Amino acid sequence: MTVKIAINGYGTIGKRIADAVKLQDDMKLIGVTKFTPDYSVLLANKKGIPVYTTEDRVQAFEELGYKVSGTINELFEQADLIIDASPSKVGAKNKSIYEKLNKPAIFQGGEKANTVEVSFSSLCNYENAIGKKYVRVVSCNTTALCRLLCTMRKNIDIGKVRVTLIRRAADPKEFKKGPINAIHLKPIKLPSHHGPDVQSVVGDIDIVTTALIVPTTLMHVHVVNVELKDKVSADDVVEFLRKEPRIMLINSEKLGIEATSQVIEMARDLGRVRYDLYENIVWEDSIGVDGNELWLVQAVHQEAIVVPENIDAIRAVTGIEKDPVKSIEKTNKTLGIGGVI
Ligand code: NAD
Repeated sequence: MTVKIAINGYGTIGKRIADAVKLQDDMKLIGVTKFTPDYSVLLANKKGIPVYTTEDRVQAFEELGYKVSGTINELFEQADLIIDASPSKVGAKNKSIYEKLNKPAIFQGGEKANTVEVSFSSLCNYENAIGKKYVRVVSCNTTALCRLLCTMRKNIDIGKVRVTLIRRAADPKEFKKGPINAIHLKPIKLPSHHGPDVQSVVGDIDIVTTALIVPTTLMHVHVVNVELKDKVSADDVVEFLRKEPRIMLINSEKLGIEATSQVIEMARDLGRVRYDLYENIVWEDSIGVDGNELWLVQAVHQEAIVVPENIDAIRAVTGIEKDPVKSIEKTNKTLGIGGVI
């Protein structure tokens, strides 16, 4: 069975999900929506992706010579499922459009948990999304934390989790955002919202997070501290993390990678499209155990990490694959995740 997918919002996240959908044999990308006429319309058309816009924008697109296949409602009517990749908080407003058309939709992490029935992370709660109508793939930071913590909980018994998130200030294209020369305490009053966001996926976890924003565009970095309930060594942790394809272990001594810029250079050299890293990047030599405490550092490519989860969420919501293992394997294979380095 092939499901017809429309993507509403062709920005940082939407264009990456579009490319990933095109790689799947059980999904068909029937079109994307654009709200501003720019070069990405040309590139979408070159890839054979039909572009739709709102009725009042068609003329502006055509005046610039951009080809439009119709209006967004015409696109949505043909779709089995809509991926909403609109800007933060716009998705919740778009929900009424999908409700009127009686179409299922997958939202992104910029929307609140109460917009949807399920907040989704493939390695944690795939089954909960099967057959649901409105699901949210959690944000880049939350996706990375959920993957890491659910992989840990599959292997060992853990207690309190405390995380400091060092967040990138902006995506590379966002030239108006900052800070450009400061470390921004966001929030000042602790904790940050990331802990509760992880709990929206994994209800019963004791997690507290803090967050700072730094002037970089490449990746986020998390300093993770986990209470161990079992007797576990750093080697045990390395061993089970290595088995999870969505987590890439980087040994700084062996690979000579000790900074996010070098991680991104490696992704470029690997020939990843747009240097996308779908995996959590965990520094193997940061993993340390001191008594009942585990420490590690991971980096997150914010523009790409949620892409595999969106593909899995499509399979869960439409019910075309009810087995999480099979969906995750298929997504990993098509996106080249696992056994990379
Ligand atoms: P973006 O600004 O790059 O892209 C959003 C696109 O939606 C733009 O092309 C915009 O023109 C279009 N748009 C404008 N109004 C719209 C409307 N009414 N309906 C549909 N589309 C509309 O944003 P993004 O970074 O791709 O973020 C999309 C979502 O993904 C947000 O919820 C965000 O929080 C989440 N997210 C972003 C990142 C990231 O690092 N960029 C990571 C994970 C999750």
